[in-house]
Amino acid sequence: MARLSIQILAVAMTVSLPASEASVTAASLSQLVSRPYLDLLELAPTVSFKPQEFETLRKDLAKQRDAETERLKKEETDLDGRLQTLRDQLKSLNKEASSDNAKMADRRKTVHCEILRLEKARAEKRVEREHGMPVAFDNKLAKADLIAQWPAQKIEIDRIIAEGRARERRFGDVEDIGVRKISTDQEKDIKLGEEAVRNMKTYSLMPPELEQKEAVAYVRSLAERIALSSDMTVPVKVTVLRSKEINAFAMPGGFLFINTGLLEKAESESELAGVIAHELAHVSARHGSKMLKRATLANLFLQSAQIAAIVATGGIASIGMYYAMQGGFFGLGMLLDLSLLGVNRKFEAEADQLGAQYAWRAGYDPRGFITFFDKMASEKGYVQSASFFRTHPPFFERILSTFSEIEYLPKSEALKVDTTDFREFKQRLADAVKKESLSDKKKPTLKREPECDEPQGAQTGALLPASCGVYVTQTEE
Ligand SMILES: [Zn+2]
Repeated sequence: MARLSIQILAVAMTVSLPASEASVTAASLSQLVSRPYLDLLELAPTVSFKPQEFETLRKDLAKQRDAETERLKKEETDLDGRLQTLRDQLKSLNKEASSDNAKMADRRKTVHCEILRLEKARAEKRVEREHGMPVAFDNKLAKADLIAQWPAQKIEIDRIIAEGRARERRFGDVEDIGVRKISTDQEKDIKLGEEAVRNMKTYSLMPPELEQKEAVAYVRSLAERIALSSDMTVPVKVTVLRSKEINAFAMPGGFLFINTGLLEKAESESELAGVIAHELAHVSARHGSKMLKRATLANLFLQSAQIAAIVATGGIASIGMYYAMQGGFFGLGMLLDLSLLGVNRKFEAEADQLGAQYAWRAGYDPRGFITFFDKMASEKGYVQSASFFRTHPPFFERILSTFSEIEYLPKSEALKVDTTDFREFKQRLADAVKKESLSDKKKPTLKREPECDEPQGAQTGALLPASCGVYVTQTEE
């Protein structure tokens, strides 16, 4: 932390010129929006731009976004063309004879594998264009808004604190966390949550659980510690899912699911604590059960199950959809959150605020959530982090409300950023994920496409399963 503030100070000194010579150009504004949120927290009050400069930047960003969309669309069209060619090849192969000789079978396998590979690439491109890329641009716009508006907000907050009125804000009674009541009857949600979890299992929508005991125990103990520093009145039940999708979600009643993809992406204990605290805030405030109608939930699971079934029976034709659904980057968590929580701005802002409080109360630097958020939004290649942002109320609102809460929270020197436990956990996790995915391949499945070799130099390596065989059954238990 000390190192971080020194760094920020150094930057602040180079950027904050005396007002007279500060003819700050649009170019430097565009550089600023590429900087991390935490830097902006310090920098924004030291710079000043004209409204026109913000306008120019917004226009430039929109232009860049449109160009990027076009580029991705073109790549999708190219892939469509290549897929069509391959399907034509299958057609002519089928005209050659009533059954395959060895040479034909070989060619068929090659074509199948190529189709699988391209279908997958096609699905990834689409998610990138529709979700990942807009997220990256929204994030830059939010940074511009923040530069414009944070300084005034900070002055206002400092004034309120100086007047002794900090606790007048909503949920301002942070010293009473655990005793105060932000919702009633949380325990009534347990049944609903259990039902949802059962449904997910029945429809085979749940990725396999991580088995490595120590790694799971670490996540559990962290979540339990945060739960103790929260307004939850139900116990937290943690499940670690072995999925590359960068996501975590909580069901009503305290059922917290965290994907290994997210755990691998977190770079410090405070980042992970921030994400967990955010999810536990949804549970504490009963957002899920407020939004959720039982019929909606059942319908949702049915839809997902139907898509999974189509893929299982229809084979390669639906592979793109299969990957889009559960193969890594656009899975169940996203679907659930979009339907249950994501559309509700108010709940998301509340979870951001309460999450910052719980992380702080548990002894973590609440800025961890922001660094994780920022990293995911600026992720190169866009796609990997798409599901983390399934919720999007405007980023600006979320960051501003999180910044504000952090400003209000009583300052503490003892807040943790990282721990050796976390480092050890990460090592264990990496080994376990590798080992357990390997043993998956040895398990029999209902139906498998022919084994295909991993394409050389795959660009989205992290997202690709170890082979492009189609897994049509989920490993239960
Ligand atoms: Zn949320």
